[in-house]
Amino acid sequence: MRFIWVASQVYRRTNRPFSASALIKSKEHKRVFVLTLQITPFPLALSKGQSSIVVGGVTIGGSRPVVIAGPCSVESREHALEAATEVLAAGAQLMRGGAYKPRTSPYDFQGLGLDGFKFLYEAKQLTGLPIVSEVMSAKQIELAEPFVDIFQIGARNMYNYELLKEVGRTRRPVLLKRGLTATIQELLCAAEYILLEGNTQVILCERGIRTFETHTRNTLDLSAVAVLKSLVPLPVIVDPSHGTGRRELIRPMSRAAIACGADGLLIEVHDHPCDALSDGDQAITSATLKEIIADVHKIHSALFSVAEAFGETLLKLAEPVHANAGNAR
Ligand code: PEP
Ligand code: MN
Repeated sequence: MRFIWVASQVYRRTNRPFSASALIKSKEHKRVFVLTLQITPFPLALSKGQSSIVVGGVTIGGSRPVVIAGPCSVESREHALEAATEVLAAGAQLMRGGAYKPRTSPYDFQGLGLDGFKFLYEAKQLTGLPIVSEVMSAKQIELAEPFVDIFQIGARNMYNYELLKEVGRTRRPVLLKRGLTATIQELLCAAEYILLEGNTQVILCERGIRTFETHTRNTLDLSAVAVLKSLVPLPVIVDPSHGTGRRELIRPMSRAAIACGADGLLIEVHDHPCDALSDGDQAITSATLKEIIADVHKIHSALFSVAEAFGETLLKLAEPVHANAGNAR
């Protein structure tokens, strides 16, 4: 049919995935032929983004889920070293910690800055855990580069397109958090900014969105995990800490995240959550982390058995949907 030929020409010229729909009515009845072609707003996320990313020997988006854990903020050298030792012992494969903190109030603890990166690096030397830490400006990327393995772009900066371009120009993996009010498509377009600069290593992170619900800090949108996995090959992880804001909810939501196909978790851990300089209400202890990591492995194995029983691969548990999620807004 002619519309398929036209569509294939568009694909050949643009090398961009698209969706096509046509209304074809027969000539005898003198009817029209309507063709709609929609170029996807995130072609590189579909075609160029890596589905698995190896950092310091750890594969994110591989055959097993990964757990990234550590404090919200690095509070001191001792704190960083102790936290790394504890999350390693609990079974985490990467360490997180904030050196520069995006705080709602300018009077709250803003992080240790460059010293924070240095302490995280020492923690890595001690434990071997690769480091994930947030950067909020081009200057911070430069400062972090010698010390940090994965740049985190926080929820507040998902719409900071200049910053996305900056991390896109590096060749370091980027953990991109969903904005507080971002749609799935906006998250994917943000990933596209990074990919367009040539950085193919983008990890998407669902961390909850702002809704009318007040019982939790945010509403953890786990359907986004299944949607993202069905749209693009990029690894998707879940942050139940910011997603709920409540430590008693971290375990059940971690279980649910793995069950719905997340490639990993990002969890805030503190040895004395009540004394944490930021996000204490959502911090769990390393003892709870250990239990969660045991859950993760059990649930993942169970999923594997289910998939095997039905002759499917785990990836196929989420059926791919249409390549186009709508027009860019
Ligand atoms: C964090 O990871 O500590 C953080 C500030 O997260 P978010 O950007 O998701 O709020
Ligand atoms: Mn935090």
